Amino acid sequence: MSTQLSDRINALEASATLAMAAKARELRAEGKDIIGLSLGEPDFNTPDFIKNAAIDAIHQNYNSYTPVDGYVELKDAIITKFKRDNNLSYDRSQIVVSTGAKQALYNVAQVCINPGDEIILPCPYWVSYSDIVKLAGGTPIEVNTTIETDFKMTASQLEAAITPKTRMLWYSSPCNPSGSIYSKEELRALADVLQKYPKIILVSDEIYEHINYVGEHASMAQFEDMYDRTVTVNGVAKAFAMTGWRIGYIGAPTIIARACNKIQGQVTSGANCIAQRAVITALEAPVEKIQYMVDEFKERRKLILRLLSETPGFECNEPEGAFYVFPDISYYFGKTLHGNLIETATDFSMFLLEQANVATVTGVAFGNDNCIRLSYAASTKEITEAITRIKNVVS
Ligand code: PMP
Ligand code: GLU
Repeated sequence: MSTQLSDRINALEASATLAMAAKARELRAEGKDIIGLSLGEPDFNTPDFIKNAAIDAIHQNYNSYTPVDGYVELKDAIITKFKRDNNLSYDRSQIVVSTGAKQALYNVAQVCINPGDEIILPCPYWVSYSDIVKLAGGTPIEVNTTIETDFKMTASQLEAAITPKTRMLWYSSPCNPSGSIYSKEELRALADVLQKYPKIILVSDEIYEHINYVGEHASMAQFEDMYDRTVTVNGVAKAFAMTGWRIGYIGAPTIIARACNKIQGQVTSGANCIAQRAVITALEAPVEKIQYMVDEFKERRKLILRLLSETPGFECNEPEGAFYVFPDISYYFGKTLHGNLIETATDFSMFLLEQANVATVTGVAFGNDNCIRLSYAASTKEITEAITRIKNVVS
C-alpha cells in the first residue's frame, strides 16, 4: 500500500490472468520450459483477409482521430452483425466501439454505477468484473454456483441476491471461466425475476458467442421486456484471433451509449483507426470463415477433458463454449505434494507452475475457491504435454 497512490488504486487487484501470463513469460526468459495454459488467447494468427484490410487502411491513409464512438461504417457493420447473428435491432446511437471489450465494460461501470450500488456477479465470473465494478464504487455481490448446476445461477438464487441497492447484473455466456452457456429458457427464467425489478440494468458479455459447441446462442436483449435495460457486450478478440488489436463494442440503450461516448471522449478519444477498419472486414465476413478455429477448439476440448478425466482429483463440468476448463481440485486440499502443503486453489496453481512448469489460473480470481482454470487455446501437443506433466506431479 503506497501513500503516494490513491485509495482507489491501492484497493485494486492486478489482473490475475495477465499476472500469471507475465510470470510465465518471466520464467521462460530464465530458461524454464513453461507451458502456458493461463491466458485466454487463441494461438491462431489473425486471418489473412483481416490483416489485408488493415494493410489497405494504412495505405489509404486512415491515420486521423476517428469519431469517438467508432467509424460510422464500423457501427453499421456492427448493426448488421447484431441483426444477422442475434436478431437484435440497434441504431447508430446505440453502438459504441471501444479499446477491447474490457474498456467497453469499464465504460459501462463508470456510467451506470454510483458508490454503494450492488452489482450481482454469478460466480465464477470473469476475472476483471469485480475490480471494474469496485473501481466505479460498486459493491460486487457474489452468487455462488457449483458444478451441479453447471456453474449457472438459478432464478431463485438471483431473486435471493436482489436488495433495494441492486443496480446491475453482470454475466458472460458462454462463460469465462466455466464455459457454461445459458439457454434461452434459462435466460427467460432470470428475466422473469428481473421483470419485477425494472431498475436493474444487465450486462450480457457475449464475447465468446461464436465459440459455442452445442448450438444456438441466446442473448438477453432478445426479450422485448429486457431490451431497454440490457447492454450487450461483444468484441473480436476471441473468435477472430485479434486479442492485440483491441476492439470491442456494445449495443445498448441510447442513454447508456451516449454516456459511454462522453467518457471515452475524455479518456481515449476512441479506438485505434487501423484496427477499426480491419474489424469492418472481419464483421462483414460470413461467420463460416472463422469456423475452422472453432472446430479446432472443439477437438482440443475433447482432448483436454479426456486427459483430465484420467487425472485423479480433477472434477470437470463439460464446457459448452469458450476455451477453458474449470476443474474442481479441492480433492487436494490438506494434502502434501512433493513437500508442498496444498491448502487453497492458489497453492495448487502455484504448485503446478513450480513443479510441473504449467501455468494455470487460480479459481479465486474468478470468485471460486475450489477450482483452477486451464485454457485450451493451445496446441494439442502442448495440451498433451501439460496434462501429462500435471498427472506426473500429482500422482
Ligand atoms: N469479457 C470476457 C468474458 C473475456 O474473457 C475477455 C478477455 N478477452 C474480455 C471480456 C475482454 O476482451 P478484450 O480483449 O476485447 O478486451
Ligand atoms: N480474457 C482473457 C483471459 O481471461 C485475457 C486476459 C485478460 O484480458 O485478462 O485470460
